[in-house]
This record gives sequence, C-alpha cells and structure tokens, in this order.
Amino acid sequence: MSDGRALARAYLEQQRLLGTDAVMVPADGQEVRPPAATPGLRPGSGDSPSNFSDVVPPTPGVSPGNMHVPGSSDLPPSGLTFDPPAQDLFSADPIQRAATLAEIADLVGGCTKCRLCEARTNTVPGEGADRARLVVVGEGPGKTEDETGRPFVGKAGELLTKILSAIGLEREQVYICNVVKCRPPENRTPQYDEIAACVPYLFRQIELLAPSVILAMGNTAAQTLLNTKQSLGALRSKVHRFRGIPVIVTYHPAALLRNPNWKKPTWDDVRIAHRLLDG
Ligand code: URA
Ligand code: SF4
Repeated sequence: MSDGRALARAYLEQQRLLGTDAVMVPADGQEVRPPAATPGLRPGSGDSPSNFSDVVPPTPGVSPGNMHVPGSSDLPPSGLTFDPPAQDLFSADPIQRAATLAEIADLVGGCTKCRLCEARTNTVPGEGADRARLVVVGEGPGKTEDETGRPFVGKAGELLTKILSAIGLEREQVYICNVVKCRPPENRTPQYDEIAACVPYLFRQIELLAPSVILAMGNTAAQTLLNTKQSLGALRSKVHRFRGIPVIVTYHPAALLRNPNWKKPTWDDVRIAHRLLDG
C-alpha cells in the first residue's frame, strides 16, 4: 500500500475494528502491536443436521484478505498477537505445575472453580495426540460431550471429523479441546467469568502441546485465544499468534450445520491451517 489515502483508510478501519487507537501498518511488513484488549463474548453454538461431504471443493488459491504482506502473498496477512504470561517455574498453582495433559485432565475432573461444575455430568478436558501439531479449540461441551466426557462427539463433532479428514488428518492425530471444560446449561455461550476461571487449563494444555498451529473454531475460541472482541468475520483470513503459535480462525462446526454457505470459507481457512502445518 503506497498511496497515503489508502493507508489512512486502512488505519481508520483498523481503529474501528480494534476499538482502540492502535494500528498495524502492513505496507512495509512492520507491525505496531495494539495494547491487549479485554476478551469478549459472542453468541454460541447449537446443533442441527447436515453433512460436510460437499465441502471439499479444493479451489485453487486462498483468499488473501485485503492486505498484502511482502514475500508471503500466498498466505493471509498477519493479525493479532496475544502473549499471555508464560509458566512461572516456581508457581504453587497446580495448573502451572501440571507436567502432562493427563495431570491437567485430573485437575479439570475435580474442578469447581466456576458455576458450570454444578450441572455437569462429566468434565471434558480434551483428547488427542499429546504430540499433536494441530490443536483444535471449540467453545465448550454440548450434551453428548457432557454425557461422554469427550470433546466434539455430537453432530458438530462428526462434522469436525470430516473437516479434518478433508485435509488428511485423523481425529487421533490432532488435539481437540474447548475453552470451557464443563457444559454450559442449554448450550448457552460461556460467560466471561466462566471463561476466565477455565482458561488457565487451555493455556497450559497449549503450552504442554506446543503445537505448530491452532485452529480456533467460533467466536468464543477466537476471542479468548486472541484476547479481543473482534468478530469472527474480522478475524478470519489472517494469521494471528498465540504465544508465537500461528492461530487460524474459522467458523464453528455447529454454525456450519446451520449455515451451509460458510462451508466454503471454512474449507479455505482449514487449508491455510494445513499449509502452515506443512511449513
Ligand atoms: N461444540 C463445541 O464447541 N465443543 C464441543 O466439544 C462440542 C460442540
Ligand atoms: Fe472448572 Fe472449567 Fe468446569 Fe468451570 S468450566 S468448573 S473452571 S473445569
């Protein structure tokens, strides 16, 4: 972007999206980081029938968003970066001290840090390969997940399994988890204090897994991992970072079940995640 007016327009648009006076100027690849925003919440998910088999139209090229990054024209431009404090080695916090995913699952199993513990049948800490290169993050357990203690095993989960197999990944090769580990009543969106109580488990899981890419599915996952209130639409088609790990944002599978029009853009996003895995 060489034209000063175009740059000014991009500046104003970013101010509007960020809700702050921070701006990232992409023209010369130099980024000015915005101050951390407060996590926000968005409408969540539900389930309805459909399938993903018609989603696999591998169209050439990836929509690059509206900003150009020199040297990486085939990948979307960079977006937000969130660097929450890393582990304190001397911490007494059991979550920080947990050395394995199994230890985290044990802690989650006994957790009563928020009101979501009251109505749960099972906690749903997450599952998958402990050496997974891709971590998929959803919002929170639904009914089937609460009944089984496993993430993404209902209708939305079946769709996720298809999405993953479309890029040649088995469920078992990735790690699948959620922002909150207990089912919100009636599948409502988790509230701010519930997310705040639960998110240390997710952050520690990511720290232990140290994946190559994180796929954030839906507003709750995206806004929590990126510490922003920006909508999914604004966050898509950019490569964000969580503690340096690339984060790709896409629609939640439950939303896709309601809105088949979003399958194609989801396919684009998932292919970007796949390319970052290869890179
Ligand atoms: N929706 C989610 O966000 N997570 C699940 O595990 C299932 C449905
Ligand atoms: Fe604990 Fe998270 Fe369950 Fe709340 S949702 S009780 S913080 S595990």
